[in-house]
Amino acid sequence: VPERTVLVLGCGMAGAVAARELRRLLPDHRVVAIDRGATAFYAPSFPALAVGETRARSLQRPRARLARHGIEVVNATVQHVDTAARVVKAEGRELRYDYLVVALGAEADNGAIPGVTEATQGFYTFEAAERLGAALRYFAGGRVLITVPEGRFRWPPAPYEMAMLLEQHFHVRKMRQKVEIGVVTPEPAPLAALGEETSDLIAGQLAHKGIEVNTGATLAAVDPVRRLAHLADGAPREFDLLIAIRPHRAPPVLVESGLADDDGWVEVDPATMETGQEGVFAVGDAALPRGDGHAFMSITRAKAEAAAAAGQIAARVRGAPPSAPPVDRGRWFIEVGAGAAVMVSGDFGARPPRVQVAQPSIVWHWAKTALEKYWLSRWW
Ligand SMILES: Cc1cc2nc3c(=O)[nH]c(=O)nc-3n(C[C@H](O)[C@H](O)[C@H](O)COP(=O)(O)OP(=O)(O)OC[C@H]3O[C@@H](n4cnc5c(N)ncnc54)[C@H](O)[C@@H]3O)c2cc1C
Repeated sequence: VPERTVLVLGCGMAGAVAARELRRLLPDHRVVAIDRGATAFYAPSFPALAVGETRARSLQRPRARLARHGIEVVNATVQHVDTAARVVKAEGRELRYDYLVVALGAEADNGAIPGVTEATQGFYTFEAAERLGAALRYFAGGRVLITVPEGRFRWPPAPYEMAMLLEQHFHVRKMRQKVEIGVVTPEPAPLAALGEETSDLIAGQLAHKGIEVNTGATLAAVDPVRRLAHLADGAPREFDLLIAIRPHRAPPVLVESGLADDDGWVEVDPATMETGQEGVFAVGDAALPRGDGHAFMSITRAKAEAAAAAGQIAARVRGAPPSAPPVDRGRWFIEVGAGAAVMVSGDFGARPPRVQVAQPSIVWHWAKTALEKYWLSRWW
């Protein structure tokens, strides 16, 4: 078989798994991974970073480490994908490919809610989590409001996890009585999409910790001067600290290159992860399996899809039968504060998801911590 080049766009969680699996399955071919950032971060630890429960050093790795595994790592921003010519343009370079894996993730749409960038905190990027950590150090008390966006966004438990970690944080600082914590969400109940058992358990934890949840509501605009959060249908909410999770979309370069649809996601065949373009695959947060508008953005899904796409490509290069479709099965650990977490496990890809939830325990908290070490050492 003549040498083939597989190009992986984006080297986050899905991209790293795809590149490593491709390297393993196709030892005699080129695997090139491109990312705009020189450092890889483990996003599930961002809430803990913001409240000072983990250190910045422990949740990052230099992406160049992938070169030790025989992967060519390019540090540049992808600017255009020409699927007809099979060329990707990135900061003056032109990278040719035989097979393409799009793993550019999802990004915040900062312009979607007026006033949001001026007045709010976040924790969905490393920089935002560090900034929130700094703001918390000077926070003397008041109203903390966390808002959940409409539509698909990265890992739905994160806002609730943040609320409960903050509750614990203020408790430890002996200022819990000076802080009101509220969550505003368009969901009918916290994490309703995961089913009643999980939703009830999380709602119970939030209530027990005195965290108010305003369901069926969304943030429509922010008045940074008067510190008011205007909800889509209701009275304005006052805040002293607003943590607004932005609506998400696939990186605009994918829309401009004609790979993402009008909703901003790259539609793929759920059995193969191939897009409408032959030889072009999409995995992780940027990808939306056809017919499943609710697919969660999670590492469990990112990993399953990346491994499946690598298997498909390897089978085609070698002329072997195609590999099995991805299954989004696994475990999610959700921090609930006080050193405990809950574990949700099962089939996240089933509709409705078929999952069970285990009661809060320190064991699940340690399992979540161990997962950080596993991910960073296993894939980078
Ligand atoms: C706060 C938080 C907590 C989370 N907790 C959990 C959890 O506990 N469990 C769980 O299962 N999931 C969790 N997730 C979700 C999980 O992190 C994502 O689903 C996962 O990172 C998706 O992987 P990905 O590779 O698709 O995207 P990413 O990991 O975001 O990687 C995308 C990569 O593409 C690069 N990129 C983007 N645009 C360009 C461009 N134009 N040029 C070059 N490079 C580009 C980016 O730099 C990035 O490295 C959490 C997410 C967040 C934000």
